[in-house]
Amino acid sequence: MNAERPLVSTSVIVLAVAVLLLAAAWSYLFGYPPPPVNPDWEVEAAETIPEGALAVRYAGTSTLLFDDGETAFMLDGWFSRPPPFQVFFGKIEPDLEAISYGLEAMGVDQLAAVLPLHSHYDHAMDTPEVALRTDATVYGSEATANICRGWGFPEERIAILADRAPFQLGAFTITPIESKHFLFNDPDMVETMLTQSEIPEPLVPPASAFDYKLGKAYVLHIEHPKGSMLVIGSAGFVPGQLEGIEVDVLFAGVGGLGSQTADYREQYWQETVATVNPERLVLIHWDSLTGPLDQPMTGEVRIAGFLAAGAEDTKAFLQTKADANPELPFQTLPRFAPVVLFP
Ligand SMILES: [Zn+2]
Repeated sequence: MNAERPLVSTSVIVLAVAVLLLAAAWSYLFGYPPPPVNPDWEVEAAETIPEGALAVRYAGTSTLLFDDGETAFMLDGWFSRPPPFQVFFGKIEPDLEAISYGLEAMGVDQLAAVLPLHSHYDHAMDTPEVALRTDATVYGSEATANICRGWGFPEERIAILADRAPFQLGAFTITPIESKHFLFNDPDMVETMLTQSEIPEPLVPPASAFDYKLGKAYVLHIEHPKGSMLVIGSAGFVPGQLEGIEVDVLFAGVGGLGSQTADYREQYWQETVATVNPERLVLIHWDSLTGPLDQPMTGEVRIAGFLAAGAEDTKAFLQTKADANPELPFQTLPRFAPVVLFP
């Protein structure tokens, strides 16, 4: 009898250790690490917007609101944050409450346009609902148009973008440039999310996140009497494509950069920042796709390995570039609050 006691307690210990290890693994995998950007880069929100100034507001990822006091338009308009399990294994749909929260936090009720930088769910899923609520026209690819149609959005308020064909929104001249999404490391992801790029018919949510195909990945050149800007939603590039364009402010997506090779990161830098030679660099799309909208922005949840991989390398790369370019301000934007770009 005595001989059996240690055996029982050993298995209890083994079980307890296993439970603890599992719990630790769980909280690690579902944990949100700090963002891959230097917290010192965050610019302060403006307390007042001077009359006639051009201001920007940021909701996270690449949802940006530009407003010159006369005309306001939004890129992406994405506020839903479906949790990791739902993204990978379930179906997702616009979160109407999150959209209300986001639009209110950004002080928006009327928009001239909503323009998704591409049609993946973290850009275009909420676009039609945001455009419906703000009386906006949606500008985008055929894939974006089918996301709108699937939501019952009026056809006459959908405008299909043509490569390098500028259009006017008030005093803003906007030129979409068809570019490239960054390359996922996983060949299956490349096939599903990049190679299969079309959404051939109206997409009715709830739908799989993987049904939100790429469409076209746009770089946006925004010109305004006050200043010029370029927005790159995803850390991809077409060599030589931006030659001849110089801007005051570059908004550059850096999500996933760390999962690429050092050569890729350097080439991305050369083809974007070094080419368009901005006076300020605003980093976007570095925050989690699944973290809550009403909390501070974090890095990607670790279990989303294909998005979270290489966060340390992203951070190190950006810091090295910031150190090497002391004349170029590196900036991130506070969530929702306005920042004056041009007074
Ligand atoms: Zn994407």
